[in-house]
Amino acid sequence: MSQPSHVIPDDIGNLTFPQAVRRGVTLRCPACARGKLFRRLLGMHEKCSDCGFSFERSPGYFLGSTYINYGFTAAITTASYVTLHFGLGCTNGQLLPGMVAFILFFPLVFFRFARSLWLSLDCYFDRVGASEAMSGSRPAEDNNLDAADRR
Ligand SMILES: [Zn+2]
Repeated sequence: MSQPSHVIPDDIGNLTFPQAVRRGVTLRCPACARGKLFRRLLGMHEKCSDCGFSFERSPGYFLGSTYINYGFTAAITTASYVTLHFGLGCTNGQLLPGMVAFILFFPLVFFRFARSLWLSLDCYFDRVGASEAMSGSRPAEDNNLDAADRR
């Protein structure tokens, strides 16, 4: 029997589901809960400034966050439609402008939270992949700019 190629750090290994959700909702590093994920409205840090955890493990990593964003948008829209149309008797004509506006703007507002939840839930369900993102990384220094800042 072979040994695992690496040891899962305690920060990732002891991550509970409620912790993962809380760190996702608060837009914090899923490994340490201290570092911020975003440096501005839509721009993300490459690594955690506190523990060095790499946020984007590979190109296109955050494509999966669109599933979370779409899922929340569809679930809220469906629940709202059923409640307003069948529960309160609103007509389709009354509901259409509000529903269209919601479908267009909610994903933009929810973008940061979808990415953060994707990252934290991925760390919860894939601890080996998360520990690989953590091993070999070191905290970003304050005067060390991310690649996007150097451009
Ligand atoms: Zn961190």
